[in-house]
Amino acid sequence: MSFSGTNLENARLHNRRVVLESIRQHTRLSRADITRLTGLTPQTISNITSELLAQGFLSTLPAESGGRGQPAVPFVINPQGAYSVGVQLSQHSLQAVAVDLCGAVVARAHAAVDRVRPAQAVAPLKDVLQRLQQLAGFPMAKLLGMGVATPGPFGVDGLSAIGPTTLPGWQDLSVGEQLSAALGLPVMVANDASAAAIGERLYGAGSTLSNFVYMFVGEGLGAGLFLNGQVFDGVANNAGELGHIVVERNGRACYCGNHGCLERYLSLWAAYEALGFEDPTQATPEDLLHAMERNDPRLAAWLDEAATYMRQAINMLECMLDIETIIVGGLLPVPILEKIIARLAPLYASVGNRSNRKVARLLVGNVGSEITAQGAAALPIFHEMNPSFNVLLKNH
Ligand SMILES: [Zn+2]
Repeated sequence: MSFSGTNLENARLHNRRVVLESIRQHTRLSRADITRLTGLTPQTISNITSELLAQGFLSTLPAESGGRGQPAVPFVINPQGAYSVGVQLSQHSLQAVAVDLCGAVVARAHAAVDRVRPAQAVAPLKDVLQRLQQLAGFPMAKLLGMGVATPGPFGVDGLSAIGPTTLPGWQDLSVGEQLSAALGLPVMVANDASAAAIGERLYGAGSTLSNFVYMFVGEGLGAGLFLNGQVFDGVANNAGELGHIVVERNGRACYCGNHGCLERYLSLWAAYEALGFEDPTQATPEDLLHAMERNDPRLAAWLDEAATYMRQAINMLECMLDIETIIVGGLLPVPILEKIIARLAPLYASVGNRSNRKVARLLVGNVGSEITAQGAAALPIFHEMNPSFNVLLKNH
């Protein structure tokens, strides 16, 4: 392990992130508020806010008279101050969004691809980037970068090549560097659950939390671990690969070679199989809603089963990580997710049983087909804003 030294430039960037993050968390702050919250000197704050105003990252609201002294001018994040592009790369599609600095989606684009390796992805990525920029009409100079979320697991013998969702060639941590060079802008690559966790931290239910797990129920099951203010992604970007924890001895066969993996019970694919789809790639989340409408007993049985295993997953995560909360999101339609959650009580006793809890043990996060792309778009913004950002900095 090596540590980089601190120099004045690093300190300046760090202080800038501290100011931006304070304003993001509190929505609006005056210079005096920032001084009180950060402990930085008024002169430093004045320099940083002037710089951020000039760059367009911040704007001001009308001055508020607060009794004695000069009226305070509140600073807010300016949504049009910068933009970011996020891409969710799946086996056969590339779904992209452009978001503003406050995370609102301002343009969408997608392209068909066929299990692309990083080098083959350059052309379609350039194409969607151009389309997004034309649709949203922001100048390239305001683009912070691109985040690319790819499904894991990465580089695991027997797992990465044959999974239903995984893509070959993306496990190398230098992929971000290669794409940055090819596209001429900063590109950050993360696994889809980690990207979605960062999206949840910047714009969702985890907005003010420093320790939470984002449980991503998609075609498989993954988790993004947001610990001590950073994403923990492990030695090969595989931390949080919850789906392949074995929970049933002699359980259902998994493509990884084990039996009884968690995602064989709690995932879209598990639901599709329960509903009798022989080829899960032909099913969609809407099929679950249709099954609910016709009171399909196979769906009810699956909901019971899924709740059993979600309860177990919650127990493991709480005892392992002692987190503030678990945020569940992903691709399950909200009514289906709510039915599973309604079946969870009582949760297992765990270190999560605390009388001084500030948030519930389980929260529902963002759900829907765009959350991974939005999470990917959050990566460059998180980089720009988060003072403790360093994990994703390693390639930049
Ligand atoms: Zn497995």
